[in-house]
Amino acid sequence: MEIVDNSLLLGGIPTRSLIEEFKSPLYVYEEDTIRERARELREAVTFENKEIKFSCKANTNIEIMKILKEEGMGIDAVSKGEVFAALKAGYDSSQILFNANNLLWEEIEYVVSRNILVNIDSLSQMELFGKRYPDSSICIRVNPNVGAGHHNHVITAGPESKFGINGNKVSEIKRIAEEYRLTIEGIHQHIGSGILDPGIFIMFMDILLDIAKGFDDLGFIDFGGGIGVPYREDEDRIDIGLLGKEITEKFEKFCHEYGKKLKLVIEPGRYLVAESGFLLATVIAVKDGERHRFVCVDTGFNHLIRPALYGSYHEILHTGNSHGPRIPQTLAGYLCESGDTFTRDEEGIVDRNLPVFQAEDIVCICNAGAYGYTMASQYNSRPRPAEVLVKDGKARLIRRRETLEDIFRCSLDFS
Ligand SMILES: *Cc1c(COP(=O)(O)O)cnc(C)c1O
Repeated sequence: MEIVDNSLLLGGIPTRSLIEEFKSPLYVYEEDTIRERARELREAVTFENKEIKFSCKANTNIEIMKILKEEGMGIDAVSKGEVFAALKAGYDSSQILFNANNLLWEEIEYVVSRNILVNIDSLSQMELFGKRYPDSSICIRVNPNVGAGHHNHVITAGPESKFGINGNKVSEIKRIAEEYRLTIEGIHQHIGSGILDPGIFIMFMDILLDIAKGFDDLGFIDFGGGIGVPYREDEDRIDIGLLGKEITEKFEKFCHEYGKKLKLVIEPGRYLVAESGFLLATVIAVKDGERHRFVCVDTGFNHLIRPALYGSYHEILHTGNSHGPRIPQTLAGYLCESGDTFTRDEEGIVDRNLPVFQAEDIVCICNAGAYGYTMASQYNSRPRPAEVLVKDGKARLIRRRETLEDIFRCSLDFS
């Protein structure tokens, strides 16, 4: 992203040209940013026997998954649909970990028949899995009893969390494994999302390593994802070099004590793709209400739900007047739903000082590459936008815009 002569360029292309060619609203991804984040992480973690699995619930665009495959990533998939996408993108079964929470049998059968390792999330399912697939290999998801994250909804460990098998149940895990001759290939945790402090990640690493000592012959340990990106202008980037160094040192020390060179796995989603993505939208109207000046755009929480769902902050840019004077404004969507605003916290609207917008201006919502399109819906019967990949002044359509027929194709009149 760069601003030249007060005009915002993505991948070297003026945003107005992108909207003219591909229409509004539009998801745009900068390929270089995706590759850069992947490379950064790969180089930061110097431990040799490692695998970085892209947690693709953050972004399942198959072309983006292909790019991350080229960058040496594997896949963390949480549903049959994501496994399907990963296989389409060319990943090998051995690169995929099936990580669903409360796994459905239909999904388990689908992945087991494709030789994909299943991460088991409860003792009761472990027992059923053992009965169905004795003598097989599994991974165990542990709940370390503490969690972290940028919002309550994204804390995925700890006493309030529905995820994983309690870390103090090691003997029961081992008993079930023995009964069905299951090989515990790896253990896994994922503590939450949006972590910007390497110290937190490392602290949780310690907890899992402590639990890992209770297992005799592991092949890998998977420390999950959760590495954050700065969403607010005043947030600092996580020191990825420091994080990688500390992960490596800690894991090397553990392997030495454990007496075996295990594989180190991490599963970032957000970190790899969030900053590459932008949601472009066009201002339909500007209106002055009693309390707020509403800048109304042709998108809403049907396309980017994070602000409405978590009160998340996304940087908002005026693509043609970024240096202009700023006044407090509210960016509002086009859905018939009062919570449909982009400048907000969990309670409601929070005006933001933004350059003055007028009808037909183009707005750019930043950091929309993770949990943007994948959380999009067809609410209000509005089609999901197209997705475009940009690099070196060239744009490539990587998912077409939906049509009304797409929305209604499952109804009786259409099928
Ligand atoms: C969502 C998820 C991740 C990725 O989380 P990010 O915060 O996007 O890095 C990793 N592992 C599991 C099991 C997940 O559910």
